Amino acid sequence: MAAGDQLAGGRPATAARPGRYDRQLGIPGFGPAAQERLRRATVLVAGIGGVGGAAATYLAAAGVGRLVLVHPGPLEEPDLNRQTLMRPEWIGGSRVACAEQTLRAHHPGVEIVTFDRELAKLPELGQLVGEADVVVDARHNFPDRYRLNDLCVASRTPAVIAAMNATEGNVLVVEPGTPCLRCVFTEGDPSWEPLGFTVLGAVSGLAGCLAATEAIKIIARFGEPASGRLLQYDLWDMDFQSLRVRRDPACPTCAELTGAGAEEPT
Ligand SMILES: [Zn+2]
Repeated sequence: MAAGDQLAGGRPATAARPGRYDRQLGIPGFGPAAQERLRRATVLVAGIGGVGGAAATYLAAAGVGRLVLVHPGPLEEPDLNRQTLMRPEWIGGSRVACAEQTLRAHHPGVEIVTFDRELAKLPELGQLVGEADVVVDARHNFPDRYRLNDLCVASRTPAVIAAMNATEGNVLVVEPGTPCLRCVFTEGDPSWEPLGFTVLGAVSGLAGCLAATEAIKIIARFGEPASGRLLQYDLWDMDFQSLRVRRDPACPTCAELTGAGAEEPT
């Protein structure tokens, strides 16, 4: 071999170029078929702030083929302590457009569709949920979370629901037949409704990474998705608890669909 046929790192020039996903294809239970499932998948990410932005980042990085991003309103200075898809020169611009621009720059192969709109003012939300392989719910308020939950249950779309406040976070995975958000949080949490809750960016980023991992597992069909479980963590003292949740036989969303008193998953 002539000297010029050898690359600087010692790899022959004729060797196959390393692929973007080479480092994940070897994960036990993963592989090319799982990668192809990701490429064909659509994930709806509702909320593109600290939680949803991190989730979208890692969904795109893993090779999910199509992301639908829904988030209302412009970027403001206080968003920048956690929303790593955003840049200071974009303050005043649409947040969902900022997210799209950053994701496209890093992952040009991912199709991105955006809606700069409140969920309540998005008539096509039901259709978008029905067409998604998984919904990542990263909204901060219970009206939006219940709205998504009800649409996911009705259309049998798996949902990964992530939220945080200060140093605490939680992630709930709902697949058809497992307890839904209304089973677990029957009356919401009024303290989380105002936008005034506190956020440490690393805490919201962790919630987003956990949500992305669960969505990827469901789509790619590897590992054991945490369906029917609620992960609660408090990074104040690094406390993590994974709780099995129970269906509410009187749940207004899922009781009729699944049958009141149906067997709990074990
Ligand atoms: Zn329910």
